[in-house]
Amino acid sequence: MTHVALPELPASRTWIDGSPEPSAVAEAGALHDPNTGRRLAAARASSLEQVERAVGAAHAAHEAGIWRELGAEGRAPVLERFADELDALAEDIARLDAVNSGVPISVTRLFGGSNGDTVRDVVARSRALGDSRRLEADHGDVRLHREPWGATALIMPWNAPSAMAVKKVAYALAAGATTVLKPSPASPWSTELVVEAAHRAGVPAGAVNLVYGGGDVGAVLVADPHIRAISMTGSTPTGRAIAAAAAPNLTRLRLELGSNNPAIVRADADVEATAAALVSGAMKLSGQWCEAPRRVIVHDALIDDLVDALVRELGRLRIGSSLDEETTLGPVAFEARQAELESQLAALEAAGAHAIRVGDERPEGWFFTPTVAVAEHVDLDVEIFGPLLTVQPADDDAEALRLANAGHVGLAGYVFGRDEDAARVLGRDIRAGEIKVNGTSVLDMAPGSAQSFFGASGIGGHGDADVLDFFSGVRVVGVDRPGLPL
Ligand code: NAD
Repeated sequence: MTHVALPELPASRTWIDGSPEPSAVAEAGALHDPNTGRRLAAARASSLEQVERAVGAAHAAHEAGIWRELGAEGRAPVLERFADELDALAEDIARLDAVNSGVPISVTRLFGGSNGDTVRDVVARSRALGDSRRLEADHGDVRLHREPWGATALIMPWNAPSAMAVKKVAYALAAGATTVLKPSPASPWSTELVVEAAHRAGVPAGAVNLVYGGGDVGAVLVADPHIRAISMTGSTPTGRAIAAAAAPNLTRLRLELGSNNPAIVRADADVEATAAALVSGAMKLSGQWCEAPRRVIVHDALIDDLVDALVRELGRLRIGSSLDEETTLGPVAFEARQAELESQLAALEAAGAHAIRVGDERPEGWFFTPTVAVAEHVDLDVEIFGPLLTVQPADDDAEALRLANAGHVGLAGYVFGRDEDAARVLGRDIRAGEIKVNGTSVLDMAPGSAQSFFGASGIGGHGDADVLDFFSGVRVVGVDRPGLPL
């Protein structure tokens, strides 16, 4: 195996109004290599005073109009330079993300290598959308203008650190918004490279600010009355806390949250192909993909064959360091993740599940042995977020659908069956934003795919157009129509 080395670790500096300044060593926590458990660096957190100044800088930059008044065309060259800077950083970002998240380097390279194109894509979208357009009106001049809301908080999870940071900041900047980013305390490093790249590309001072810390820092950031919009990706409990903090100011919200995604396996499914797709989906990002299949609901007649096939597929994984190029399943991101998975598995077993662990326990690092938990009933209202897949039987499609729609669902669903039309018809009734038939790939099924978050999985949509739309409002200005009756 080829073990890649880490680049120099970023210093986790707080960025305010275009300048970096030191962040204090956080009272609790340190950053570790999840592959070995070895301590790599102290955790750093911005002070609450720094958070306030970062928001103040974003607010002042918005008020001064230095970024928004450039218009989509004026912002485009800066964002294109930002994309080029990200291309140059792709490998460093991939290595830092692999060690911060436990996701194998072969996958973080895909994310790291596509960050530049994410920015180029949004530049093309915002140019096509334009800043304003004339509305059809039979009297005077009436125009619709797109206006960023103002200072925007961007709150990230740890499972795809740079991809989340880049997507959020690129779409916000393309819309003309000014921003304050806060990465997860577990995965701060690539975000600092992203923010440095934005400054090298020439974003004006105050347009991109960066603070570090956990929920306490995040809570102060989102409650600041100068924050006019919040885009957060993370867990449902955190989403609820953010929504509560946003309520007094009626801050605009976009929340991409969690879900215990169901996968229905119909009686006519191809067992081997289904098991291969389920394992591929459930183990992606070392089991830490928000849309991964989590709960398999399989027709009675197939359950034994499917479990056997799942175990065989899990046995083909190459479990190892996220920094090894041939690894297909790395560790989970940090120690508390491993502990939570163990306790979820213990709860399943206590409720009668039969757990099949595939592979040897590893003596060091935060590996969770990939596991299938087979049970008559799976009653877990909390999201599973790791290489643990539950399997339960259902008598027929109606029962499978009832089980699929029970509990914490809303992001994604899956249906497997040889009759793809029947599978699509069933998939239409799963309460989730994206339902895939006979596959578990990460990318959207069609360029026009735009999914909503159902239930407790969030507020807003997942499509690129939705995301761009989120960061601005529309303002209509025009000559009134005289002589109307009211
Ligand atoms: P998390 O909810 O623990 O943290 C997310 C972010 O919110 C972190 O930056 C955290 O510091 C911050 N935060 C915590 N409390 C806060 C508060 N009170 N106010 C403001 N900010 C606060 O989530 P996580 O463990 O980092 O990420 C994993 C979760 O993300 C999973 O639930 C997964 O399903 C979800 N996720 C969803 C999507 C999606 O597109 N829907 C994508 C990726 C991950």
